[in-house]
Amino acid sequence: MILVTGGAGFIGANFVLNWLATNNEAVINLDKLTYAGNLNNLSSLKDDTRHLFVHADINDKATVNRLLQEHQPRAIVHFAAESHVDRSIHGPAAFIETNVNGTFSLLESVRSYWQALPDAEKAAFRFLHVSTDEVYGSLEANDPPFTETTPYAPNSPYSASKAASDHLVRAYHHTYGLPTLTTNCSNNYGPLHFPEKLIPLVITNARAGKDLPIYGDGSQVRDWLYVSDHCAAIRRVLESGRPGETYNIGGWNEKTNLNVVHTICDLLDELQPKANGSYRDQIRHVKDRPGHDKRYAIDARKIERELGWKPAESFETGLRKTISWYLANDAWTEQVLSGEYKNWVNLQYQNQ
Ligand code: NAD
Repeated sequence: MILVTGGAGFIGANFVLNWLATNNEAVINLDKLTYAGNLNNLSSLKDDTRHLFVHADINDKATVNRLLQEHQPRAIVHFAAESHVDRSIHGPAAFIETNVNGTFSLLESVRSYWQALPDAEKAAFRFLHVSTDEVYGSLEANDPPFTETTPYAPNSPYSASKAASDHLVRAYHHTYGLPTLTTNCSNNYGPLHFPEKLIPLVITNARAGKDLPIYGDGSQVRDWLYVSDHCAAIRRVLESGRPGETYNIGGWNEKTNLNVVHTICDLLDELQPKANGSYRDQIRHVKDRPGHDKRYAIDARKIERELGWKPAESFETGLRKTISWYLANDAWTEQVLSGEYKNWVNLQYQNQ
């Protein structure tokens, strides 16, 4: 049994679905169901007894301690976080509360639980912390990509809060010997992505005939990874990573934001043509985000060399799959945008 936090969000839900589709080990899924958590992501597991969903905050020590004692997980995979950079600029407090205090609270509970385990289980236990490449700051055009030894230089409240959580995880390994693993991954995209982030936002707005907003001139560069490739990498690190190590995960897909939007428009022109013109006609440049990082790029050679992981999807194949998923899942998008799933969640959990 493993315990996953944040498994109703974008990457966490993809991870849980993939995990249960490919092996029989049960999952406890602890999630606070913020605006980003969506139980519809997990509706296919409704009758699956291997999945135990628990509606709770990682800061809720009593619940976390109870779950650890009752279920004795062999590993924790920690996704739960506030994850949207723009939201962190407008309201950083929630990012400190969940990403910093929440990770600290979780680490404290896990440390007590782990310290009491028999020696063999103690040695086999893993705490895998899922983090971001944004902790490394911003690169200039000709800088080499981030490696695991690049100094931390976070620039947004989001990346600063993730950097703080990475440091806490590192300290729990060095101070207490907790067998931790940290992964720092580039931008993900794929099915179940909340339509506030660039790729699903552009797909959703394009199809609704709305503007496609691009910050500034769209020259910011990001590395993109298809979400199932990220999930596969996390599993590889969980099974074979060396405790105390960090692993960078990336897709070797550096693209400017403008290039990403153009590619989405071109694929949509092919898959769902408009009556007149191209989706590119809907592109609008808007005022740049304050402190917008210029470029992120990941050097993923360590995980490739040590653990034999490589992404299966290219940017083009992954994006085609993503757009096809959104074209086939209008009901999911409509529910997310209408907030209807929130009402459903309230109904489901009001008595728990
Ligand atoms: P998301 O915002 O889609 O999902 C986050 C989930 O965590 C939601 O289900 C939410 O309800 C839950 N959550 C939030 N606060 C919580 C709390 N206090 N207690 C319990 N649950 C809580 O995020 P995502 O994009 O799936 O990212 C997951 C993790 O991966 C995050 O840690 C993020 O920093 C990291 N990451 C994301 C990306 C990316 O491109 N999305 C890239 C690298 C790393």
